[in-house]
Parts: sequence; structure tokens; C-alpha cells
Amino acid sequence: MYENILRHPGPTPIPKRVELAMNHNIMSHRSAEFVALYHETINKVKPIFGTKEDVLLLPSGGTAALEAAAVNTVAKGEDVVVITVGAFGDYFVSICERYGFNVHKLEKSWGEACTAQDLAHFLVGLPPIKAVFMTYNETSTGILNPVDELAKVVHEHTDALVIVDGVSCIGGVEAKMDDWGIDILVTGSQKSMMLPPGLSFVALNQRAWQVIEANQTEAYYLHLLSYREWAKQGMTPNTPTVTLIYGLREVCKLIEEEGGIAQSAARHTLMRDMTRAAMKALNIPLLAEDAYASPTITAIKAPQGIEISTLLAHLKQHYHIDFAGGLGSLQGHIFRFGHMGYCFPSDVLQAVSLIEAALQDLHYTFTPGAGVIAAQEVFLAAHK
Ligand SMILES: *Cc1c(COP(=O)(O)O)cnc(C)c1O
Repeated sequence: MYENILRHPGPTPIPKRVELAMNHNIMSHRSAEFVALYHETINKVKPIFGTKEDVLLLPSGGTAALEAAAVNTVAKGEDVVVITVGAFGDYFVSICERYGFNVHKLEKSWGEACTAQDLAHFLVGLPPIKAVFMTYNETSTGILNPVDELAKVVHEHTDALVIVDGVSCIGGVEAKMDDWGIDILVTGSQKSMMLPPGLSFVALNQRAWQVIEANQTEAYYLHLLSYREWAKQGMTPNTPTVTLIYGLREVCKLIEEEGGIAQSAARHTLMRDMTRAAMKALNIPLLAEDAYASPTITAIKAPQGIEISTLLAHLKQHYHIDFAGGLGSLQGHIFRFGHMGYCFPSDVLQAVSLIEAALQDLHYTFTPGAGVIAAQEVFLAAHK
């Protein structure tokens, strides 16, 4: 009877209107109908990235888009900096190492952000750097890195490209790619973009294209210059995920109707603040400090005396709500509350209420309702 409530930081729920939009005849990706869909959709996507530049659509998960950003710009043996503050930053390290780049790893402990000072210090004395890779929203820890400030530091001190993984936040946060000097910005479909898995995005500016044109990449399926050639005609080099592109057009319309990306970002910030206020009122510790807390996912530590695995299993079995556990070294130490994409303050109130129900069942000591009231106060204050 019950449908599980999915409160993961990806994959995330799909709006009904987007499901209906995807229930569409498949047409040829070489037809005039597809070309019209492609152009219309790409124009609507650009404001979400804060760019007037090219946004390419890849028929893949987010990881392939990260790999495309790396392998098209940098050659074996060249020096790169990779900033990592968690499991997804480590992805970028692995990709760069796999391709034989000379990786200078700026690593922060899990739960911390990388600051502009951290990066400025790190760059001192390094050889010329081809690219600096960074994660905007670290999904494993719920940290939002200050990529605007980091990009500025990169451009002040180096000629490197700024390459940003925005997989779990684009669509739910402000991203001013052009104003901030981000050269390549990547995201995927199944997190804050409210779509099923299987589509990814690579946005690139002219600086990035110049580097890519000068680089002899071995990539074939991920060869971005081919994507650029075909995009001029409103097409992709190979068969695209037509169904997901219908869905994407509808997602863009939903964001437009909400008032644009700034409004979507404000809703996500509000959900973050509601979630954090609730956990604080319940005396449940949070992993990230307020200053760098993610608007799309909150990492929550174990309530005193309760095992994370017990809590999550109980919530799923009895209350049909599904949260994600911790990754890597944080497994068993945190759970992750996704409030991204198709998620609203009312969903946060529901989730907090169900967490309280489970905590009562598990004999955690607290004042019932304290978390819900705290979240509701934040919600009401935002509407005054
Ligand atoms: C989910 C995620 C990825 C990987 O995306 P896939 O679609 O699973 O390949 C990369 N980076 C971040 C920050 C993510 O959240």
C-alpha cells in the first residue's frame, strides 16, 4: 500500500508532471522535432548553470561527465590540483590518477570545507597547473564548498581551468558559472534536477574550449568536441536519452514557474535551515558547521545511545521513509537526509515528524514535538 518516501541525496523523487512529460513517443534524434526540443531545452537549462555558454547533454551518469571534463582537458603527466573534502572529491582524484595526471591533492577532513585560504596556501610553490578540480556540494558530508571564492583564488594565482562537480546541487543552489569564473561545470540528472538517472550535463566556456582544442584526447564516446559540433545543429553525436530530455524540458518549466533558480535556491536554503533547527532542538549532532552546510543534504550524527543502522531500518520498516547512510569512514556514524529537487518544506516537516516517531519507539530521551516545532518556526519566519 505505502509508497516509500525517498529522502536520499540522490536518486530523488520525480514530479508527476515530469513523469507525464516523459510518457512521450520516441522520435528520431535526427528529426526536426528533436532539433526543436533540443534547442528549446538547452536555452532553458543555461540560466540554471548561470551561463550563456554551451551546455552539452551526455547520455550517462554524472561520473562520465566528470571523466569527460578531465580527459578532454588534461593529458597524461600534466599537473593538476584536486580538492577533496569527501567521497565524491575522491572520485575526481581517482579519475585523474587513472588517466595518469600528476595529481596534487588538497585534502580536508570529512565534514570540513575547503576555504580560499586553504587553496591559496596550497598553490604556493606548485609547478604550473593545468586544471583545478573541485566539488561544489560534497554529497557524502553535506558540505557546500565556496566555489566562487575558490575559483577566484585559482585565477589570481594560476592559468589553470576551474572544473567543478555540481552533481548533487545544480538546480537547488545558485550557480553563477560566468560571473564566478567557472570554466567547466558538470551535473547529473538524478539529484537536484528532479529526473531519473541517465543524463548528465557539461557546461563549458571559451577558455575551456581553447584548452580542449589544444589537447589531444583519446576519448571517443566522451569526446566533447564532437558534442560541440553536433550541438550546433541541435543534435548529439550518438543516440541521446530522448525520454529524459522531454523530462528535462518540463523540469526547466517547473523551475521557471517557481520564479527561477534563485527561488529554487531559496527553497533549498529554507529546507536546510528547517532540518538543522529540528536536529538541534532534538539534541542530535550535525556533521557540518552552519557556515558551510549544504542546502540539499544534511549529514546527521547518531542520536545518543542509538545505532544509525537501527534507526534507518526502523524508519523504513515502520514509517516507509528512506534515508541514506554514511559512506566510507562515515558509515555507521551519520545518516544523510536529502532535501533536494522535488522536495518542499512540508516534506521536511513530515520527515522530522517521522524521525521523532522512530526516536520515541527507540526510547530516545527528548521532548516529543520539539523538532517539528523548531522546523515549523523556521518555516513560519520565512513567510513573515
Ligand atoms: C552522485 C554524485 C556523483 C556521481 O554521479 P553518478 O550519476 O552516480 O555517476 C558525482 N559527484 C557528486 C557530488 C555526486 O553527488
